[in-house]
Amino acid sequence: MTATRWDSAAARPALGAHVSVAGGLELAFERAARIGCEAIQVFVKSPSRWALPPVDEGSRGAFVRARRRFPGFVGAHAAYLINLAAGDRTLRRRSVEALGEELRRCGELGIDALVVHPGSHLGAGVAVGLERVAQGIEEVVEIVEASTARGSAPVRLLIENTAGGGNHLGADLEQLETLLARCALPVARLGVCLDTCHAFAAGVPIHRARGLQQWLDELSRGIGLERVGLRTSTTRGRHSARGATVMRTSAQAPSAAGPSAASCVIRDCAGFRW
Ligand SMILES: [Zn+2]
Repeated sequence: MTATRWDSAAARPALGAHVSVAGGLELAFERAARIGCEAIQVFVKSPSRWALPPVDEGSRGAFVRARRRFPGFVGAHAAYLINLAAGDRTLRRRSVEALGEELRRCGELGIDALVVHPGSHLGAGVAVGLERVAQGIEEVVEIVEASTARGSAPVRLLIENTAGGGNHLGADLEQLETLLARCALPVARLGVCLDTCHAFAAGVPIHRARGLQQWLDELSRGIGLERVGLRTSTTRGRHSARGATVMRTSAQAPSAAGPSAASCVIRDCAGFRW
């Protein structure tokens, strides 16, 4: 099957970056403006800690006002400690609660989507791990729905593909597809975030036009393009946000997938009906 393509090359994905919230959440938009972002990703708390300190009221108000003025996509990336695939009850419970709290915070801030890694099955196997993640997602969505005011826009949860390795889930599209099918949540509630650098590190030859096209075709057939909420590329451990594929030279994808891959991915993704 060939991927659907736009007839004209007019459509270009919005380009953005992960921007720092150091000094105050609302400062993200000033920083984004300085570098011409059309979409942004932020952390709504420290990504390497469990604690979720309250957001200062002034900062929250300023963020919400700035977000309303910003016409593009605003995403957040969840804490790296979260592991919905964990078998340990304490870690699992903590992960579900932490993700739920972040999702709720995103809703309060007017953020469109929250990206989370599927996690590590820690030796239990892929099938067991995916089932745990699916159950975790359902629990999180239930908790947040129960505590969210009626009529407020839901924050979309986006499961990100990973570079894999060890027991980490999400290195191939098939696993993400299994997860989405198992959860059976509407498109507006659950989707995927595709990191081109993670895909490359996982062995997908996206630095070649044919490899990228095959990956996009597989995506189109399986997960479905309507589920793709965000496209990113990891750069020195961070993510650049949506519209896709701000493919800067990446620490994980050295010379072979450097600038040439960047132009290849942006060009091909721009012409692809996401
Ligand atoms: Zn990520």
